[in-house]
Amino acid sequence: MQIKAAVARVQGAPLSIEALDIEDPRDNEILVKVVATGVCHTDLVVRDGMLPTPLPVVLGHEGAGIVTKVGRAISKVDVGDHVVMTFNSCGRCPSCQDHHVSYCHEFFPRNFFAARADGTSALSKQGERINGNFFGQSSFACHAICHEANVVKVDAKFDLELLGPLACGIQTGAGAVMNALKISAGKSFAVFGAGSVGLSALMAARVVGAATIVAVDTNDDRLAMARELGATHTINPTRVDATEEITKITGYGVNFALDTTGMAAVIRGAVMSLAPMGTCGILGASAMGTEITLDEVHFMSGGRRLMGIVEGESVPEVFIPMLAELNAQGRFPFDRLVKFYSLDQINEAIHDSETGKTIKPIVRMS
Ligand SMILES: [Zn+2]
Ligand SMILES: [Zn+2]
Repeated sequence: MQIKAAVARVQGAPLSIEALDIEDPRDNEILVKVVATGVCHTDLVVRDGMLPTPLPVVLGHEGAGIVTKVGRAISKVDVGDHVVMTFNSCGRCPSCQDHHVSYCHEFFPRNFFAARADGTSALSKQGERINGNFFGQSSFACHAICHEANVVKVDAKFDLELLGPLACGIQTGAGAVMNALKISAGKSFAVFGAGSVGLSALMAARVVGAATIVAVDTNDDRLAMARELGATHTINPTRVDATEEITKITGYGVNFALDTTGMAAVIRGAVMSLAPMGTCGILGASAMGTEITLDEVHFMSGGRRLMGIVEGESVPEVFIPMLAELNAQGRFPFDRLVKFYSLDQINEAIHDSETGKTIKPIVRMS
């Protein structure tokens, strides 16, 4: 079958819209007619060659669509089901067996190697290999092949065009708060970075009833959005010291902090902002080999904690439908972050994401 897809051919260059051939799904694969796909920071990092994903490749890892064909071994979804395609996992390793799929021992190869486990690709162009299966989907295309491990069925009552970002960026932020940090009612929380992930964390903190919610960002427009979405306080660290300001607001620091920037200096400040027994989560990826420094006595003597978090530690089959329901009820309004583009406008969507003009772009396939 022929499909229309956005192909990353040259490092750092715009994606090109091309007609490709896609194989029929194998026995253990699912063909999805993609309705819309979110653009995530990771797509851009890979396009820029900062991870060893081979080019040419079809990126896209926040796909939402309708199942159009299933392999013989598939029982999880049927033709016609509305689905979100999330990150891929092996289903067999100790983490997967323990339902901690975001810590799959094969997370890296299953999501970034852009090939099936046997090394083949379902995508090609007149005989030329095009790498696919990025995050088990490659959903910057009108059709994508995914797997039982990364397909999540959602109720047809939800607006399918909106749901793609729940697959990665939105669940990363919300899950950090709800699944990893497990913030509860009345607690104080500071999020460092008010992009799509940070604002999702902030909205989740509001859902769980955090009393003090502080957003830290250098962009005043983002801080204004943070206030609209439930931040009780906002801090622009280009004007004041964030740690001092958080201590002033809370008296002794926050119970929970979350860094979404991956920047060592920001992480240090986030940990310094913690009250005794406070926990800081980190989820941003920085360059390989980046080190973090902490004030040892401050960290140790306060019983403070620092934890890495991937994909919001979510069990996607449970968490994605839950966030969709909260959104439908108006309690988790991530639609406020979204702007839609057509597939032909995908480079504009990427550009607007990079410049900060759009918080969360979604590319519609038709
Ligand atoms: Zn696994
Ligand atoms: Zn992502």
